[in-house]
Amino acid sequence: MADVPRTNAPDEAYSHLIDRILSEDSVEVALAHGARALAQIGAADVVALFIIEGSECVLQAWHPPDPEIRERHEVRFRAAVDVLCGRGPGPGADAASAGEAPQTLPLVAAGRTIGAICLSGGAGAPGRVADLPLARRLAGALACVAAAHRERCRSSAMQREYERWFKKLDEQVRVLERERQKFSAIVHQSDSEVFVTDPAQLIRWTNNVLASNPPSGHEGASWIGLGCRAVCSRLDDPEAPPECGTCPVAQSLKKNAVVHHEFMRSNHDEPRMLYLSALPIKGPDGLPHEVLVMIQDLSDLKVLRRSESRYRLLFERSAKAIVMVEPASRRVVLANPMARRMTGHPADTLVGLILDDLHAPAEWARLAERYGRGFAEGNLAPFECRVRARDGEELLATVSGTRYDLDGQEVAMLEFQDVTETRRVEQALRDAEERLRSVVANAPVILFAVDETGIFTLSEGQGLATLGLAPGEVVGRSVFEMYADHPGILENIRGALAGEERIDTVDLGLISFETWLSPLRGPDGVPRGLIGVSTDITQRRRLEDQLRQAQKMEAIGCLAGGVAHDFNNLLAAIMGHGELMMRRLDASHPLHRHAEAIQKAATRGAMLTRQLLAFSRKEVLAPRVLDVHLAVAELEEMLRRLIGEHIELVIVLGDRPLHVRADRGQIEQVIMNLAVNARDAMGGGGVLTIEVAHVDLAGTPGDKARPAGPYVVVSVTDTGCGMEAVTVSRIFEPFFTTKDQGKGTGLGLSTVYGIVEQSHGYVEVESAPGAGTSFKVFLPRVDEAVGVSGTEGTGPIATRGSETMLLAEDEPALRAMAREALQNEGYTVLEASNGVEALAAAAAHRGPLHLLITDVVMPQMGGGELAQRLQAERPGIKVLFMSGYTDDAVIRQGVSEATSTFLQKPFTIAAFARKVRETLDGSATPAAREDSPPARAA
Ligand code: ADP
Ligand code: MG
Repeated sequence: MADVPRTNAPDEAYSHLIDRILSEDSVEVALAHGARALAQIGAADVVALFIIEGSECVLQAWHPPDPEIRERHEVRFRAAVDVLCGRGPGPGADAASAGEAPQTLPLVAAGRTIGAICLSGGAGAPGRVADLPLARRLAGALACVAAAHRERCRSSAMQREYERWFKKLDEQVRVLERERQKFSAIVHQSDSEVFVTDPAQLIRWTNNVLASNPPSGHEGASWIGLGCRAVCSRLDDPEAPPECGTCPVAQSLKKNAVVHHEFMRSNHDEPRMLYLSALPIKGPDGLPHEVLVMIQDLSDLKVLRRSESRYRLLFERSAKAIVMVEPASRRVVLANPMARRMTGHPADTLVGLILDDLHAPAEWARLAERYGRGFAEGNLAPFECRVRARDGEELLATVSGTRYDLDGQEVAMLEFQDVTETRRVEQALRDAEERLRSVVANAPVILFAVDETGIFTLSEGQGLATLGLAPGEVVGRSVFEMYADHPGILENIRGALAGEERIDTVDLGLISFETWLSPLRGPDGVPRGLIGVSTDITQRRRLEDQLRQAQKMEAIGCLAGGVAHDFNNLLAAIMGHGELMMRRLDASHPLHRHAEAIQKAATRGAMLTRQLLAFSRKEVLAPRVLDVHLAVAELEEMLRRLIGEHIELVIVLGDRPLHVRADRGQIEQVIMNLAVNARDAMGGGGVLTIEVAHVDLAGTPGDKARPAGPYVVVSVTDTGCGMEAVTVSRIFEPFFTTKDQGKGTGLGLSTVYGIVEQSHGYVEVESAPGAGTSFKVFLPRVDEAVGVSGTEGTGPIATRGSETMLLAEDEPALRAMAREALQNEGYTVLEASNGVEALAAAAAHRGPLHLLITDVVMPQMGGGELAQRLQAERPGIKVLFMSGYTDDAVIRQGVSEATSTFLQKPFTIAAFARKVRETLDGSATPAAREDSPPARAA
């Protein structure tokens, strides 16, 4: 740029400069040109250009552009500008006044001072620069540039401000729109009726709910524009305020506050409870411009309240213990009364406990993980646990749980059901069932059930084994098929299925069953099947048969016993008379032989009655020392007759007597029973060997059945059919027999066994099928001499006497014989045929009576009573009982044992005379037998 002449140069040059300044794009460049040009014009060293912007005075251009110079002058310049622009002395006023005051030129645009130019130093122009027209013109141009620049700056700042405002507004509008949408959604979606009125209470807006219920009578009409009374009138509230002036909407407008009111809407089928809220919508002035009215139907809330109270009731009254637990801390936050009852904790201690406390530590250890998982999943599947009550008592409970919202707090709801009693009952039931099952399974019967089609549904019991069936084996099979061959069974089954109870006995093979069938009815009473119990009565039947047999035997025995008794009387008479005859007849007399024959025959007869009595077991038990050899020898004849001709009898006896202490009749019975069995085993003939021997057993230690000692052994051996081992194992059982009905009683060997045992001996058997049988009877041997008995004694002892005796006997033959025998011995005899007569005879007799000889069984009064009475009348009188029947202590009850004796009929005269003498002398063995075992005979 060309230098500007410092003098008043031609106008063009400066016009050119001013044009350039004005057309310069950059404000800074334009102002810098201006400052330099002014320095030339004003011949100044330093020029500065300030612009006032608001309260600021901004340095815009500087010449020369040297910071050091600027620093030296700026403060002074600013002070000058402040003064010029009427801004008062600036902060640098003092400093300014210190130096030389600069020249100033105001920058004026549109009549306003917008800044100033300061000039300083240099040679200085002639006069003040402000007076130079050129300088003033230049300053005017610079003011224009600065003003334009300032304006530009201001407007762009303004624009930026506007843009900011706009953005903010936009955002707010968006927020508002969102809020509006929310509000609209809430209001429209809500099932409440919502409308807005203006201050005149005219409806201006409604939500969808109200819009869809147009005012009545105006189908398709709108609420808009109607008074809000139109809505209220539908509510038909008896308590509704009569005028609009007091209605909630009006009140809300008046009070500028929210007003609530409850209505009943009764023009529906069921009355509805409505809740109206009127909310004033305030304008910018804070006054209500509109009212928002909301009508809610609270009827459902009522229902809700009701159901809530129902739930509360359930919670309070539940039979389950309900415990709400905070899952994280496991703290109990709520518990129902049942929980308190179950645990024994009062309400205040239960709440606050932790779940762990409700279990014993060991139980908690087992459950902790399970609870934890349940809480995490929000569902606790039921399981059983032991709950510990406050007193330490444990009870069994099932617990289950779910997640539950308790007033906004998420808790685990645990329900405990006490099953202690249930489990106890279940266990008891199981036990009972098990007991029943074992009873059924072990019952010696068959229990079964059949359905209506005849299919077995149950078959149990030990009795099945007898049919070769396993329990349950026939279940599923048809009874009609299984027992098609037993029409009787099927007939009963059909009967029971038709509803009848049946009891019947059925034979299946060798086994007999008694079967009881009972229909099983459904709830309607119609038979749906049957149950049955079959009892194996084979054994019972056999026992019944045996009992019948035994009764028969008993009857026969009685008969035989009775016959033998009477027969003994006759035999005694025959023997007695025979003996009397023989005594009178000389041995050479021809009749002596006949008397002897009578005598022998009578003896045989006596033997037979003895057998009869043994058979009827009414024999007299009189154990005494006897010689077995002799007993067997005397039995030989009898045995021979017993076994018949087709069997050979071999009797082997030792050379010296073998003594045992036993009842002779019993020993005979043993031998005879064994012999009869042997005969039965040898149907086609054979050999029966009876051997008597003696043995000294060393004995096996511990063998109580065969004690050591001396024995007499009677062996009875046959060559018959023999026995299987199973048979041998049972032969001594009473009633065990293999013989046909009517042939065997099964009592033979059991009698043998009993007798031998009673004599402290034992029996051994050896047998094999087809190889014959050998029975060995071991009897303890005694070394005593054979005892003397009335029938056996023989020695010549004194039998004569002169005493007076009373003889009572109902059998006249015997009485006559006895009287004669007694008279022969020198005695005086009074006679009577029964007890009554005897007493009369005794009463009639003045002299002494030494002895009563009486039969036991007599008509009118027996010997027992007679003896008793007579002994009472005549103390010291001796008694001799005679009987063919039995020596029963009972008959002699009340009779002094010391003075009474017993004589078994029949007897020989010698024995009789001896017994009479012994009784009179008191030397006879007393009738009571101290050394005998209890009488076995009946
Ligand atoms: P019963 O003779 O009435 O059958 P027992 O008690 O006398 O009764 O005998 C029982 C069973 O013992 C007989 O049925 C028979 O089977 C068997 N028994 C006894 N003795 C003999 C024997 N000597 N030989 C073969 N079997 C015998
Ligand atoms: Mg027999």
